Amino acid sequence: MTETRSTCPYCGVGCGVIIESQGAQITGVRGDPDHPANFGRLCSKGSTLHLTASEPVTLQTRLLQPLQRLQRSATPQPVSWDSALTLATDQFARIVRDHGPDAVGFYVSGQLLTEDYYVFNKLAKGLIGTNNIDTNSRLCMSSAVAGYKKTLGADAPPACYDDVNHAQTIFIVGSNTAFAHPILFRRIEDAKRKNPALKIVVADVRRTDTVELADLFLQIQPGTDVMLFNGMLHLMLWEGWTNPTFIAAHTTGFDDLKATVRDYTPDAVAQTCGISKADLLEATRLFAQSPATLSLYCQGLNQSSSGTAKNTALINLHLATGQIGKPGAAPFSLTGQPNAMGGREVGGLANLLSAHRDLANPAHRAEVAALWGVPSVPDKTGKTAVEMFQAAADGEIKALWIACTNPAQSMPDQATVRRALERAEFVVVQEAFSTTATARYADLLLPATTWGEKEGTVTNSERRISRVRAAVVPPGAPDTAPRHDWAIATDFAQRLERALGRDTTTGTLFPYPTAESVWNEHRESTRGRDLDITGMDYAQLDAKPLQWPMPEGASTGKVRLYEDGVFPTPDGRARFVNAEYRGVAEPREARYPFSLTTGRLRDQWHGMSRTGTLGRLFGHVREPVLQMHPQDMARRLIQENDLVHVTSRRGSILVPVQASPEVGLSQAFMAMHWGEEYLSGVSATGTRLAGVNALTTSAYCPDSKQPEFKHAAVKVLKA
Ligand code: SF4
Repeated sequence: MTETRSTCPYCGVGCGVIIESQGAQITGVRGDPDHPANFGRLCSKGSTLHLTASEPVTLQTRLLQPLQRLQRSATPQPVSWDSALTLATDQFARIVRDHGPDAVGFYVSGQLLTEDYYVFNKLAKGLIGTNNIDTNSRLCMSSAVAGYKKTLGADAPPACYDDVNHAQTIFIVGSNTAFAHPILFRRIEDAKRKNPALKIVVADVRRTDTVELADLFLQIQPGTDVMLFNGMLHLMLWEGWTNPTFIAAHTTGFDDLKATVRDYTPDAVAQTCGISKADLLEATRLFAQSPATLSLYCQGLNQSSSGTAKNTALINLHLATGQIGKPGAAPFSLTGQPNAMGGREVGGLANLLSAHRDLANPAHRAEVAALWGVPSVPDKTGKTAVEMFQAAADGEIKALWIACTNPAQSMPDQATVRRALERAEFVVVQEAFSTTATARYADLLLPATTWGEKEGTVTNSERRISRVRAAVVPPGAPDTAPRHDWAIATDFAQRLERALGRDTTTGTLFPYPTAESVWNEHRESTRGRDLDITGMDYAQLDAKPLQWPMPEGASTGKVRLYEDGVFPTPDGRARFVNAEYRGVAEPREARYPFSLTTGRLRDQWHGMSRTGTLGRLFGHVREPVLQMHPQDMARRLIQENDLVHVTSRRGSILVPVQASPEVGLSQAFMAMHWGEEYLSGVSATGTRLAGVNALTTSAYCPDSKQPEFKHAAVKVLKA
């Protein structure tokens, strides 16, 4: 038996795993006792990884050779890698020549490794000359990025997981940590056991499993987080619980914010949020008066049409009380995906450039162009996720390259996304699995390697970079077998250089024989930046996972940021941001009287490509259900397990009901994971759809462009 150290491919906790293998077969997995994210623990998903990678399963689920579909309705046919990439090159080159670089788009994934991400970003922005590259991380953390940049000056989570052990108050808001980040939640449970004085405050629209640990639970109305945070600041000012010394020494903009929060009185906040004034005061006291307050937050804040405002309003509280830059005190955004952070670091989004550089900054564009050896990078902001599929549906984007993600299930407003995939002239899907809903729309399917087969790096929520290592070779015949994502992108890029007539006599822009060579170029691009990792090579990462920044010469990374009170803004001060409460994009009304929220289950991951292959992971929740409050069910004469039509302005699904007092009145909850095998639906115009995203809205935050998965107005009618 061979043992290989690697990283779990699911959530942003980033647990270390030890893969056991015999020959080409993965035979076991266990937690890495030396990995600082998990110290040997794994959750139900991580501990069953080997079963999802065993041969009986992979033979049914994996895409094992390139396939071309000659007509949209036809069965795809096997082709060689050379034919597949020649076809892709010809089609992309034709469309770029005929319609310009912005007629193509790349939609990639927070589950790609940093090296994969880097090559795709350079391919789009450096070679083709379009910023039309975005990622499913847009759906996950772009509001956190915008929030950090607006307030603290850089997209850098200041805390680390160990801060859980130093906090005296943990404020968990918009996060069902128990399900979405299980091993971090175990650490919080341990901290609470060791330190009974530790107070846990949870604010959420549902009474989730996370609430079991709470000393105080604020069950707020959907979308009212900014109201809550501004109301807390109002009370802090009234009670004298702010930290004037910290505010004066390290921040700007507090006087303007004071004027804004004057109107957020306890009466107004209690009424809008649906909580008591006493609970509001107690939550404020626990936050402000604690020696160290750590906020943990996730999609409840981010997946909102006010996502950036929610993030900044929460960070305002930390700045107003000086709860930042010391052990146990920080605003700490949790990333949903295993490498959403890595994508941010390479600038693999439509509005970012490498190493946290800004697209809108001419000096930053010039720096990236020089690093890549190209005359320039385009200045026009690219299409973000929702915009990209809307542009394809409108015929503006004509070719889409989709890697390691399943937008035909995971994007909001499925009807528009499926129209986009049908209308695009050429769709490439680069995937490890043949079973995704998006694969059916592909003109060309390119098989990619996956967990257990790949080499590279990922960054978890606490800025810790871990190595991902191959334990086995991918299945399939050697000449058609799956290839690494970075290698597919590199091969395609080298062909496209020639097809677009780039002079390659001095060499290719993509000279990558290995993942490590990509990593080293990425490392160099960070020199002098806030996330400088020039001191972090594969050999050091092989020895232990490390946190950024870690410049050349440093012996280790930085555990927590801003301990010196200096922030990466032009004047070194953090900025208070005026965030006004706006409410949800689609309020419930007489025709659509329920607020639908979506979220994760404990034992499933995203669209279930991997977790859906194991019967044991259905033991926790067997089938899709709509959870409703028993009083709402009684009022509508709905019984447990009755089938109901759930309908929004965009589509309708048919699903059984489950009584759930954890859900608020006039609200409903559905898990995000179930695809068309489990949950059929139809669009408002009769198109066949699937899953809860038949209902969700693509309304998005104006700053982060992150869509509002957490609220859609729906009606519920007995079938
Ligand atoms: Fe994997 Fe997240 Fe579970 Fe850790 S907590 S084992 S990273 S899914």
